[in-house]
Amino acid sequence: MRYFRFVSKRKQKLETNPYGPGLRRLFLNLILIGMLLINGLISQDLYHWFPAPYLTFFLCSLLSMVCLLGDYILVKLSGIQENGNILRAVTDSTTHASVGALVWAVAEGYEFLGEKKKWLNVLFCAFLAASVDLDHFMAAGSLDLKKALHLQHRPPFHITSLIPAVVFLCWIIGYYRPSMKVFSLMFLASWLSHHLRDANHRGLWLAPFGHTPVFPSVVYIFLIVVLSLIVRICYCHLQTNTVHTSIFQIV
Ligand SMILES: [Zn+2]
Repeated sequence: MRYFRFVSKRKQKLETNPYGPGLRRLFLNLILIGMLLINGLISQDLYHWFPAPYLTFFLCSLLSMVCLLGDYILVKLSGIQENGNILRAVTDSTTHASVGALVWAVAEGYEFLGEKKKWLNVLFCAFLAASVDLDHFMAAGSLDLKKALHLQHRPPFHITSLIPAVVFLCWIIGYYRPSMKVFSLMFLASWLSHHLRDANHRGLWLAPFGHTPVFPSVVYIFLIVVLSLIVRICYCHLQTNTVHTSIFQIV
C-alpha cells in the first residue's frame, strides 16, 4: 500500500514536472559530454588553467552560496509590503552584481589578488551584471520603480540570444582594438550569469523561438559555475596570445 502510494506520488510529480524524462535525459547527456570533454582536456592543461585550484574551488563555492543566500533573502522579503519593492530590487541587484564579480574573479584566478587592474576588472563585471536590469526603467520610460517592475513584456536586455551576437561582434572588433576581446569575455560572464539567475523565475528568452522552462536553483547555479570555468579557460587562452588582459590597460 505504502509502495503504491509512493508510485502514484512519483507519477504525479512527473506529470507536473516541466522537466519530463526527455529533458532530464538531455541534461544528463550534456553533463556527461561536458565531463568527457573536461576529462580529455584535463590531462593537457589543468595546471595551466587553474594554478590555484583551492582558490578556484573557494570562489565557486562562494558563488553558489551568494546565489542561494540572495534567493533566500528574496523569499523572506516577498511578504513585506512597506518599501518591499525597494528592498527586493536592491537585494536582487546586489546579488546579480556579486555573482558577476565572482564569475570574473574565477576567470582572473589568483592573479587578481595582487593587481589593482584585475580588481577593477572584477568591479566592472559587477557593474555590467547589475546594469542588465536598467532596461526595466528604459521600457517603462520612467524612473518609477513600481512602473519598472510591472511591465507587460520582458524588456530587451533580457533576450539571451542577443548575447552571442554581441560577444561575436566585440571579439571581431578586438582584432583592431585588443581590449575589446577582454570586454567580450566580461560581457559574456556578466550578462549570461544575470540571465541564468533570472531563468530561475522566468526561463531564458531565446528570441525568436520563445522561452525555455524555468531553471531549478541547482541547474542555474551549476550552469553559472560552469560558465565561470569556461570563461577562465578562454581568458587564459587570451592571456597567452595577447598582452592586453584588462580593459583598463589601453585608454
Ligand atoms: Zn534581470
